[in-house]
Amino acid sequence: LSQQLQENESPLPKMPPFDYTPPPYSGPSAEEILSKRLQFLSPAVFHFFKNPLSLVDGKMQYLFDEKGRRYLDAFGGIATVCCGHCHPHVVDAVVNQTKRLQHSTILYLNPAIAEFAEALAAKFPGDLKVVFFTNSGTEANELALLMARLYTGCHDVISIRNGYHGNAAGTMGATAQSSYKFNVVQSGVHHAQNPDQYRGVFGSDGLKYARDVDDIITYGTSGHVAAFIAEAIQGVGGIMELAPGYLPAVYSSIRKAGGLCIADEVQSGFARTGSHFWGFEAHGVVPDIVTMAKGIGNGIPLGAVVTTPEIAKVLAHRSYFNTFGGNPVSTAAGLAVLQVLEKENLQQNALTVGSYLKERLTSLKDKYEIIGDVRGRGLMLGVELVKDRQLKTPAKVETLHVMDQMKEMGILIGKGGFFGNVFRITPPLCFTKDDADFLVDGMDYTLSKM
Ligand code: PLP
Repeated sequence: LSQQLQENESPLPKMPPFDYTPPPYSGPSAEEILSKRLQFLSPAVFHFFKNPLSLVDGKMQYLFDEKGRRYLDAFGGIATVCCGHCHPHVVDAVVNQTKRLQHSTILYLNPAIAEFAEALAAKFPGDLKVVFFTNSGTEANELALLMARLYTGCHDVISIRNGYHGNAAGTMGATAQSSYKFNVVQSGVHHAQNPDQYRGVFGSDGLKYARDVDDIITYGTSGHVAAFIAEAIQGVGGIMELAPGYLPAVYSSIRKAGGLCIADEVQSGFARTGSHFWGFEAHGVVPDIVTMAKGIGNGIPLGAVVTTPEIAKVLAHRSYFNTFGGNPVSTAAGLAVLQVLEKENLQQNALTVGSYLKERLTSLKDKYEIIGDVRGRGLMLGVELVKDRQLKTPAKVETLHVMDQMKEMGILIGKGGFFGNVFRITPPLCFTKDDADFLVDGMDYTLSKM
């Protein structure tokens, strides 16, 4: 790229200034870390980049490699860092709690856990008031499916094709993308047609897709189901917003069949979509169970399930526990996250900057044929690359190439979608308009060289 730059007249987009210098680093080099990773870490990792970065510092929307080079983090640790890397208020909360008590378990009373549960419950409409803490999104969804099955006495669950819900036995069953499913027993889940507004046969007609759920209930089950689980915007699946009208129709069918409606807010929760705090709110529905993780702790491992007192009763007097779920350090972080989101008005920022970014990305679509679709809400945006707009042939190699070139410029984005041809843009919610400009200019520059 640097050779190209010398030859080319158009100036490289400039990273916005940022007043922070990371502390000196004297640890192992990127090469040494890579060699350890190859020797001692599971090979089951994603190689997005030809040369993986070694990241040693983070500050707000920026990351720093071991040489102190700054990167704009437009992936947010997979839609996880919502307040900003090492946000001082979250760091203080974690440090202070760590100094006092690192672990207690749910068997005992602890202020951090109780205070966060109360603050979290206040973020929900209706009767969604009872919180169970877990350590991850997978665990939260496993617990939600378990509760729904216990509550209804049914086993059948319906999820949507192209959805992602986790990687343990039950959640892998609910996940509906072949690359995340392995040949092990995953019983009792039916996968409904994806209300995919870009590739789906019914376009944006949510009611037509919803009929497939009715058919599954009629032909694939006894007529009674345990649950329906869906993301409001499919994250891993390539930032796919469910077609309008779909969720209310499906919720109604599921409830008629005696089932519970589970909203997987692992990616779309915690103000990310800008217009609402929870993704489901944009669809005008109220779920029976909501699951969350990622943004809840700004990167500190934490997940949660929120449900109604009536549904929560299914676990009363059962020996169900989770050693680390609701750890005081994680829940202290969770409370600090809610405080920062509110104090810094980050939902409004996600809406303002996200709308601006989407508008600018959409104008890139007018310039480059390879951009087939720009979609998403707030700071949960997707850009799908296709070789041919008519045929929508996924431009997989080009997607990786652009990501790699943007990384060289200091811009980190993710990718996803069933074909791996969708850029995922899910930065910390403190992302600014200048950051958005830098990202779009960087993408523009890279696409112009292809
Ligand atoms: N649900 C959704 C929507 C996700 O995106 C993910 C992870 O990407 C999960 C569940 C699983 O969460 P975790 O990786 O924390 O187990």
